Amino acid sequence: MKDLPDRRLLLVHAHPDDESINNGATMALYAAAGAQVTLVTCTLGEEGEVIPADLAHLAPDREDRLGPYRAGELAAAMKELGVTDHRFLGGQGRFRDSGMMGLEQNHREGAFWSADVDEAAAHLVEVVRSVRPQVLVTYDPDGGYGHPDHIQTHRVAMRAATLAAEPGFRPDLGAPHAIAKIYWNRVPRSVAEEGFARLRACEADFPGVAEIGDIPGVVDDSEITAEIDGTAYADRKAAAMRAHATQIAVDGPFFALSNELGQPLFTTEYYQLVAGESGAEPGEREHDLFAGVSS
Ligand SMILES: [Zn+2]
Repeated sequence: MKDLPDRRLLLVHAHPDDESINNGATMALYAAAGAQVTLVTCTLGEEGEVIPADLAHLAPDREDRLGPYRAGELAAAMKELGVTDHRFLGGQGRFRDSGMMGLEQNHREGAFWSADVDEAAAHLVEVVRSVRPQVLVTYDPDGGYGHPDHIQTHRVAMRAATLAAEPGFRPDLGAPHAIAKIYWNRVPRSVAEEGFARLRACEADFPGVAEIGDIPGVVDDSEITAEIDGTAYADRKAAAMRAHATQIAVDGPFFALSNELGQPLFTTEYYQLVAGESGAEPGEREHDLFAGVSS
């Protein structure tokens, strides 16, 4: 295909802020290296809890204006990461944040959790066939930690990867495209444990400390197949996370969500290859998500 950069990375996330927490350093690194970095966010995060007291009026049980506000935070975060292509699945506001598992919001009209997977995936197929990424990054089947929108994001992203490659599926959405490599976001258990040990040993300004179970995607180290050292982009990642001020409080190498429990901010980001061929030697981790990919 003409006019496309050589390396093209697509990330699919549930809410504004997930991309910066999970992949901020990776996104900044590849954007700086001239790769096409495309972010698709499935909802506006309308049901999030608001941290700053002076913005509490935006909350869903008050003015219900958090969604558009978070779209603005996301745009600011993408500026910090140098990412220019960010989109909402089906357009801004098409799918609504479903809230935590078990809430009545799960089944509200327009809630992402209640969306038909194939119908939602068709919106993503259109993006895949136009951007033609070699690499897709999304969550594991549990969405990393069981949030309905994260689980649904996994289903939609994986389904879209399949459908985008099928010539018979919706030819009106563009020419078929097979994504060479698919990764799930991961955190190695040893890295999470070490991060919490650092956090407990220091005087970070949080009312409490989270637990390993609060961190999405923690798995045994043996399941990690790729690690991206984003140390050089640590400042960019922290700045992007700060841009999501309604959701995240950053303090040095740590941060907290609305539960005010501190957790480590990782600048090396970890992945598990679940489709496609590893570009690393057997038994080694990849250090480039595009390793082995021919454009
Ligand atoms: Zn989320």
